[in-house]
Amino acid sequence: MTMMSVEVPPEVRPFLDDASASIVIGATKTAAAEGGEIPTTDPATGTLLANIAAGGKADVDRAVDAARKAFAQWRRLSPAARGRVLLDVADAIDEHAEELAILETLDNGKPLTESTYLDVSLSAQIWRYFGGWTTKLGGQTLPVSPAVGEALVYTQREPLGVVGAIVPWNFPLMIASWKLAPALAAGNTAVLKPSEFTSLSALRLTEVALEAGLPAGVLNVVTGLGSDAGQALIDHPGVAKISFTGSTETGRRIVTASAGSLKKLTLELGGKSANIVFPDADIEAAAQGALNGIFLNQGQVCCAGSRLFVHRDIHDEVVAAIQAEAETIRLGHGLDEETQMGPLISARQLERVEGFVGAGIRDGAALVCGGRQPAGALAGGHFLEPTVFTDVRDEMSIATDEIFGPVLSVLKFDDEHEAVRRANASAYGLAAGVWTNDLKRAHRVARELEAGTVWVNMYNMIDPAAPFGGYKSSGYGRDLGEESLLGYTQTKSVWIGLD
Ligand code: NDP
Repeated sequence: MTMMSVEVPPEVRPFLDDASASIVIGATKTAAAEGGEIPTTDPATGTLLANIAAGGKADVDRAVDAARKAFAQWRRLSPAARGRVLLDVADAIDEHAEELAILETLDNGKPLTESTYLDVSLSAQIWRYFGGWTTKLGGQTLPVSPAVGEALVYTQREPLGVVGAIVPWNFPLMIASWKLAPALAAGNTAVLKPSEFTSLSALRLTEVALEAGLPAGVLNVVTGLGSDAGQALIDHPGVAKISFTGSTETGRRIVTASAGSLKKLTLELGGKSANIVFPDADIEAAAQGALNGIFLNQGQVCCAGSRLFVHRDIHDEVVAAIQAEAETIRLGHGLDEETQMGPLISARQLERVEGFVGAGIRDGAALVCGGRQPAGALAGGHFLEPTVFTDVRDEMSIATDEIFGPVLSVLKFDDEHEAVRRANASAYGLAAGVWTNDLKRAHRVARELEAGTVWVNMYNMIDPAAPFGGYKSSGYGRDLGEESLLGYTQTKSVWIGLD
């Protein structure tokens, strides 16, 4: 068997050599208090990239202390000055774009074009967008009618305090930016717990942000296991809010753990999003949209369009177009510019996804393509061929469960009402797609779908201005947009007696 070997680009070597001191408290990088380390590997080759610090409760305590101290000054900085810092961080991300994209690709496996044009580029845009908000975050004056005398009542938006951000491995830099930029814009300080699988880009972001002028203690990072560092952050009484993206199971654990302290929560959890193709759609565009909807980032996307509902009249045509393209997707190392799809994040994730493929076959779905690990040079990584199932029934696990891998389940439908009903018959409600050229149908179906985002004739579009989050078991609260910013504030009503 030939194993793929990839040279680590020299621009990231010094950072990787230094990664074991990966906890950032104030402006200081340090090892874990108890000295443990976690190996972080390239998922395409299994090669060790670095050992990161295995932080725990003592490290979280120190990080929260630093964040609380910094909060006193950061919240009082003028909105313009705070905004200026965020804009400088945005510029610094752009200046370090190449290095950040390489780190993201090495650590997560995604193709470098995706890291560059999606993860890193959007991260910079997010910091810039929220940098612009600091000077617009105002309150209201309210027309009150007191029983006695007169009063002027106004509201102001105040920060919460220390925000704990717990982020997953699928878009490490971008989702960290989703949480940190609005939290900091509103005057909070933060402790970030990246995924044990992908801590590198978040650490480099923090260094870059400090160099760009972010004051010490405003952003602290504790790397480590979810069950240690993550749990300590959730349990810490000095943390005012947890903003989490990850599995619904961990989300539930956070809700339970925060019941005592009544911490505020934003939870962006799993999904099983329906992508619906009507017979009046542009078939070629819909097939492309379906492919992008499921194979972007190896399908490890919370809003992946993993249930493709196709009208019976166009079903075979759409499936043929998807199959033809899926079979040509080039798997490989993300740093290879020919690569269109990288590996899954870990052996555990690959095993989980393969378990769903096996269940689909056993349940009687038809495997149209993929479903196997590629042999040869890719055998050392966690690769899975792009996989498409047809003849999927609603009750099969490949139609109900979040697979989080490159596995598309195609389901046939006969009419609009049925498509909407079946699309909504899911515990999740993160996103949905609609492909139609009928304007009335587009708006009608968008209105009826139970999902936090509906894309019509497009899929997987994200913008800093557009709120993103779920209905039902996909979570609550929103990332991005004004709504996410408000989620990092609390409202104070001030009454002034005028008599
Ligand atoms: P998790 O939900 O466990 O991981 C997300 C984040 O939560 C990570 O930083 C993780 O840390 C942390 N975490 C884990 N346990 C705790 C805890 N007890 N307290 C605090 N933080 C914790 O997802 P997994 O990585 O285990 O992936 C499992 C499945 O979850 C996937 O197959 C997929 O279906 C789904 N998922 C969904 C995502 C989404 O965007 N909706 C993102 C990631 C996963 P650490 O990594 O160190 O354990």
